[in-house]
Amino acid sequence: MQRTHTCGELTTAQLGQTVVLSGWVHKSRDLGGMTFIDVRDRYGITQLVFDADADETLRNNARDLGREYVIKVTGTVIERENKNLKIPTGEIEIKVSVLEVLNPSKLPPFTIEDDTDGGDDLRMKYRYLDLRRNPVRNNLILRHRLAQEVRRYLDGESFLEVETPVLIKSTPEGARDFVVPSRMNPGEFYALPQSPQTFKQLLMVSGFDRYFQVVKCFRDEDLRADRQPEFTQIDCEMAFVDQEDILHTFEGLVTHLFKTVKGIDLGAIPRMPYADAMRLYGSDKPDIRFDMPFVELNRILQGAGFPVFDQAELVVGIRASGCASYTRKQLDALTDFVRRPQIGASGLVYLRYNADGTLKSSVDKFFGPEQLQQWAAAFDAKPGDLLLVMAGTTDKVRKQLCELRLEVAGQLGLRSKTTFAPLWVVDFPLLEWDEESGRYHAMHHPFTSPKAVDIPLLESDPGQVRANAYDLVINGVEVGGGSIRIHQRELQSRMFDLLGFSPDEAQKQFGFLMDAFTYGAPPHGGIAFGFDRLVSIFAGLDSIRDVIAFPKNNAGRDVMIESPASISQEQLNELAIALK
Ligand code: ASP
Repeated sequence: MQRTHTCGELTTAQLGQTVVLSGWVHKSRDLGGMTFIDVRDRYGITQLVFDADADETLRNNARDLGREYVIKVTGTVIERENKNLKIPTGEIEIKVSVLEVLNPSKLPPFTIEDDTDGGDDLRMKYRYLDLRRNPVRNNLILRHRLAQEVRRYLDGESFLEVETPVLIKSTPEGARDFVVPSRMNPGEFYALPQSPQTFKQLLMVSGFDRYFQVVKCFRDEDLRADRQPEFTQIDCEMAFVDQEDILHTFEGLVTHLFKTVKGIDLGAIPRMPYADAMRLYGSDKPDIRFDMPFVELNRILQGAGFPVFDQAELVVGIRASGCASYTRKQLDALTDFVRRPQIGASGLVYLRYNADGTLKSSVDKFFGPEQLQQWAAAFDAKPGDLLLVMAGTTDKVRKQLCELRLEVAGQLGLRSKTTFAPLWVVDFPLLEWDEESGRYHAMHHPFTSPKAVDIPLLESDPGQVRANAYDLVINGVEVGGGSIRIHQRELQSRMFDLLGFSPDEAQKQFGFLMDAFTYGAPPHGGIAFGFDRLVSIFAGLDSIRDVIAFPKNNAGRDVMIESPASISQEQLNELAIALK
């Protein structure tokens, strides 16, 4: 028998019992006559004791154990003298009678502790050792629990889990495809799915009615902390629904997850039209853990002779409560923050509402006391508040002020990782203008339906058409997104036309879908959640890397298995590929 118990379960309830444990040597302490060994497995740590009356060889063998050796021991559960009430097994120890080394270990390149001395690269190279650490394992346990609850909820709502293929043809989700050469069809390539979008729509045409899949998706994009080239979606689709049904069903899912996994009652999830999100927070994924909305000031601040304001398309600001006491140095630091190349603003104007009721701005030269009063009143400012104002072209200045808003809120401690503020952003525009290609792109994807009332605008003013599209945002992170789809062939082909596909191209790439729409396609819609991001939010992490067992680094490499890697000439020949 390899073990009678795990290393996390023995308590005083088993005193006097003979037990067998197996696990890894976590730590050993040699106190002359006595040797203590902590043995560890996934479930916990148990202390082993080899005392003075143990057999000489046994004591020597215990002393020789190195970190991370795999051992098996037989012994008796006894009460500990020095109890450790912080761990469940802390009141007992095992007086060992038999010790067997199942496998020795080299000294690990970093310590297997919650706070390790291993840097990122080293941890990734030896990820199998990193995964022995509690915080990393706990993230994966959390991921598992969330996945189980997702399945439990969706199964309860009659969703069917259906697998869709991984070797497919390009889907236009806006990123570059990963491609796989086909040996049997020389010169031809599969694409890995950016999402199962077209397949889940076809399943609706097939009458599956409610589909979901916890599925790997692949996008060849530049990587950031919250992006991986392969990532997991909770992908869902429903037939005979409108937007309201979808928001309701998936609000149910998110509420269920917070309740069962975190014990948190979320309450109703607020909704905000995209246009408001942009106007009030400068972002389509506003962080509403705190308020601090934008206030537009063109009417009040333009025309006073301050050229930066006068020439701007938008003059807009935020109110930082209680920050009037910011020092010159703190204000300069905020100005430097918005001037960083990543943000690119030319400067920042402030107005302090001093505690004594006086007003002082960085542009006093241009504004009289009355105007300063109006300025403060626009924000509903109180003594002690600091108003921060920026100016420029609308899109740019909104983005810049959004960054500043998040920075200031961070400084004020308003972005706690244990507060969760979900939000549905709805009524996204259908199309966005792409300067580079000089044409419209689908803001979500080409299968998204326009709002019926806006359809006439498709010809006259496509940029103004709103879509039946929605995103779920939690704490300023886009966690999910979806739409009601087009299910009529004519509208779909009009959409492809608007997006610059010739009828031939559209037929070649998406003929299968448009043909399917001619065989009785029901109205349908869906959503996909970024599962890795969802888990990282539940775990309170900024990066999705630590909720993925074997992630890739920023260069898209797996440094443990050393991938990507070159392949042999023979393989290349077989695939009919010549390298440049
Ligand atoms: N396929 C979409 C995405 O990956 C989600 C959806 O529209 O359901 O963003």
